[in-house]
Amino acid sequence: MKIKDLTNYLESIAPTAHQESYDNAGLIVGDPNTPLKGVVICLDATEEVIEEAMKKKCNLVIAHHPIVFKGLKKLNGKNYVERVIIKAIKNDVAIYAIHTNLDNAYHQGVNAKIAEKIGLINTRILVPKKNLKKLSLVTPIVASDTLRGALLKAGVESEQSSYASVGVAHQNGASKAAVKIEVLFQADRERAVLKAIHNHHPLASPTYNIQSVENNNLRVGSGMIGELEVPIHEKPFLKQLKREMEINCIRHTKLSGRKISTVAVCGGSGSFLLPHAKAQGADIFITADYKYHEFFDADNQIVIADIGHYESEQFTIDLLFEIITNKFSNFAARCTKVNTNPIKYL
Ligand SMILES: [Zn+2]
Repeated sequence: MKIKDLTNYLESIAPTAHQESYDNAGLIVGDPNTPLKGVVICLDATEEVIEEAMKKKCNLVIAHHPIVFKGLKKLNGKNYVERVIIKAIKNDVAIYAIHTNLDNAYHQGVNAKIAEKIGLINTRILVPKKNLKKLSLVTPIVASDTLRGALLKAGVESEQSSYASVGVAHQNGASKAAVKIEVLFQADRERAVLKAIHNHHPLASPTYNIQSVENNNLRVGSGMIGELEVPIHEKPFLKQLKREMEINCIRHTKLSGRKISTVAVCGGSGSFLLPHAKAQGADIFITADYKYHEFFDADNQIVIADIGHYESEQFTIDLLFEIITNKFSNFAARCTKVNTNPIKYL
């Protein structure tokens, strides 16, 4: 099994096309064709984690945060980023990052894991992406099932709506019964969709059109919102949150005295989502990296709870471990034993 066999699987859950424009998710160091010996999973690919991988004879480090975020112009070992890259290359350890593409995944994503830890139900993406396209295509009736099957395999999701209508196609002076298939698909699947049409449509030049649509993609986007099964007062909720997320400290805004029933979450730096959490009626917004002045934006309409960046994302390590070990058993997958949180509390 090669490194790319694992990373391709991870990208079937969190396609790199779903990362934010500023991100650098994907294989950062290493050759995708290298045989995979073992994996160490972490939030941050630090030097200590690379050493841990070497000791455990693992040749792939899967990190949530990309070690190279901005451009690298020199590799002299002058800062920790350069030293990590040099150490990884010298010791044949590959580094792969699965970052905002995993944040943006509805199923098996960073926020889904937080929602699971704190027991949210009826969850949905807080700000869905608009990255859908619509395919309309006409096919002879006999080929419609095969074609629809091929489109599903290419990544067209039936739950994202699919429609077929019977009509009449006019071709070369003849009229024949035909089926018009209309489906939505994620923009990054376009090549696969075109390939399916090319391989499975009985006509050499089939009639189809592809358009961008404004529909929300409910399976991809930022943050998550959901409900508690039983509403609970703010103080006991925050105490429960500390236990469930295994944190020592929560920085939060003034409590309102209301019960918490709707909860918005965003692992990592989520302050940009506050207006959406408010507009969708969240009683509390759980995230990290809040600055002093930003706390004022709660404005007595919502409680902002900053639980720390590392703390909010720490269970992403377990999430990736579960994703990998549920699928593969032919190599060792390990969660790092290194706590890479650069912030210490006294
Ligand atoms: Zn993060």
